[in-house]
Amino acid sequence: MTISTFEELNLPPLLKTSLARMQYVTPTPIQAQAIPLAMEGRDILGSAQTGTGKTAAFAIPMITRILASPRGSALILTPTRELAAQVMEVIQQLLGARSFIPTVLLIGGDPMPRQIAQLRMRPRIIVGTPGRINDHLERGNLILHDANYLVLDETDRMLDMGFGIQIDRILKYLPQGRQTLLFSATIPDEIARLSGKYLTNPARVAVGSTTQPITRILQEILHVTDSTKYDELLKQIETREGSIIMFVKTKRGAERLAEKLNRRTRIAAAIHGDLHQRKREQVIQSFRDKAFRILVATDIAARGLDIPHIEHVINYDLPQAPEDYIHRIGRTARNGSEGSALCLIAPDDRDRWKAIHRLLNPGEPMPAMPKSAGSHNGHNGHNGHNGSKSNSQPGGKRPHSGRSRRFRRTHKPSSGAPAGAAS
Ligand code: AMP
Repeated sequence: MTISTFEELNLPPLLKTSLARMQYVTPTPIQAQAIPLAMEGRDILGSAQTGTGKTAAFAIPMITRILASPRGSALILTPTRELAAQVMEVIQQLLGARSFIPTVLLIGGDPMPRQIAQLRMRPRIIVGTPGRINDHLERGNLILHDANYLVLDETDRMLDMGFGIQIDRILKYLPQGRQTLLFSATIPDEIARLSGKYLTNPARVAVGSTTQPITRILQEILHVTDSTKYDELLKQIETREGSIIMFVKTKRGAERLAEKLNRRTRIAAAIHGDLHQRKREQVIQSFRDKAFRILVATDIAARGLDIPHIEHVINYDLPQAPEDYIHRIGRTARNGSEGSALCLIAPDDRDRWKAIHRLLNPGEPMPAMPKSAGSHNGHNGHNGHNGSKSNSQPGGKRPHSGRSRRFRRTHKPSSGAPAGAAS
């Protein structure tokens, strides 16, 4: 069963009011599929691209269940502090200002005493990152024997970040007879194995492709050399309008690039794992408020970050893991809007670009790369992906230098995850 309006769900009045206030009228595809199944109590193995409305897909059934019974609690595990904070924000919006359901956000970097005080209130909704949750469990601050609703969010990312053992440890504290929802952008073998271990007869819910980015993102590549890279970047920034998130490899690199961009006027700020939690939150909030135009980030910001006005993603450095390309570019084109993604490819990046190309175009041959990178981009006979080469301007939005190659992916439903596949 899927739904086409939230009305069909017989939700508690509190949620109906919140959804109206949040202007959620029509469920997104993942919500249409996952919410009725979760309300029936089914375990779910969900693959959904970022920006698809996944948070409400697990939070609406969770709140319905919490409101229906005075007992039981919910635990949501996420890979990063930012994502945990963002999930908590959506939950707070859904609960509304007048709700008395105690909640707690357990993330590293936040002071322990405050978290301990909140834990004494016996929160019924707990959102956090595996490290801090384990800390509280080991110190006996956190009790999970009544946590009968578990969400593992961005599970592939949690495993990539080495949280597998921590998750195992945490799950030992939870009751057997619980409902578990596991979401992951991709479902590699390791996740499938994990789902066998932690889920019971899960319904498989998938929206769109698990290996391909959202189709509304115009993707471009630009071949550069190490010496032309920064100047090319400046040109690309000039031709764009709107907010930009720019990804770099290292924390130091993020700081350096932001400093360099700020030489004339302050247009950028950096975010990476070495910043204190409060500073990270401040940077994200200022970017959300459009206090500056460019966020220079390491992969810490590649997933989950939901800032609707990001129009462009620039991969100044390519990601180490090809899957991160999909997560990075998912920062734009949020919730139905359009966006663009540009990769600057220096000679050293070629292998990394090939790996990304293989992930996006399984079985397709790799187009030829220019012999000497530099000013010949877009003129080397490469037809772009899906055979489309276009120098036209996207929606007339901004002038085009004619040097980068563009391709907008046409939607190819992937065999592993056809749109609308729910069982
Ligand atoms: P998420 O994938 O959960 O990060 O959500 C992506 C964006 O979609 C967020 O800005 C949500 O506020 C928004 N959103 C989620 N569900 C709906 C809905 N049913 N109607 C409108 N906006 C939504």
